[in-house]
Amino acid sequence: MRRVRDTLRCNLTRVERFVQRLRAMRLPALTYHEGELHWFSGRQYPLVFRPQSQSAARVRFEPDRISIESEHLDRDRLRRLLQSGYRQQAKERFRQRLDRLLERAWWTGAQPVHLALRRMRRTWGTCSKQRVVRLNTHLIKAPAHCLDYIISHELCHLQEMHHGPAFHRLMDAFAPGWQAPHALLRRQGRLYLQE
Ligand SMILES: [Zn+2]
Repeated sequence: MRRVRDTLRCNLTRVERFVQRLRAMRLPALTYHEGELHWFSGRQYPLVFRPQSQSAARVRFEPDRISIESEHLDRDRLRRLLQSGYRQQAKERFRQRLDRLLERAWWTGAQPVHLALRRMRRTWGTCSKQRVVRLNTHLIKAPAHCLDYIISHELCHLQEMHHGPAFHRLMDAFAPGWQAPHALLRRQGRLYLQE
């Protein structure tokens, strides 16, 4: 009998993971130099630095750039700052999208769903029986419809804790066209996982 799991990890299959690792090896490492392109919400933006020593360091996602103000501009510092900037954006946007989709998810009742964020290497999201949806912070770099797709997928697990036919029927009814963001994440999700 299949072991009942408490938390469903929506992993890629073993083969997909293997292929993804091979492809990931060919990606050049991010160097965090000025002008380097970084993903945010499905688009790439150049990094622009503003050295300063007056106030606390900060990251701003502007219409045409990601600007980083910091006294120190070494790679590790920049990487950490950008990560916390992404996290800040993700916290706000993920909650907003989760609440919006939750309103439409007829099977979830009026019960709240707890949201947790985490940077993960191989998983876009997980869902537990305790109604905790954990989303990969890196999703903030993907287009909005990919985020909605992953949230919808995890919400469907509140009803169907598996990936069987009943789960897919619910996905088809709740998020028709989910195959497009699914394919996009498979095709270029590795780009969003880079740190
Ligand atoms: Zn799943």
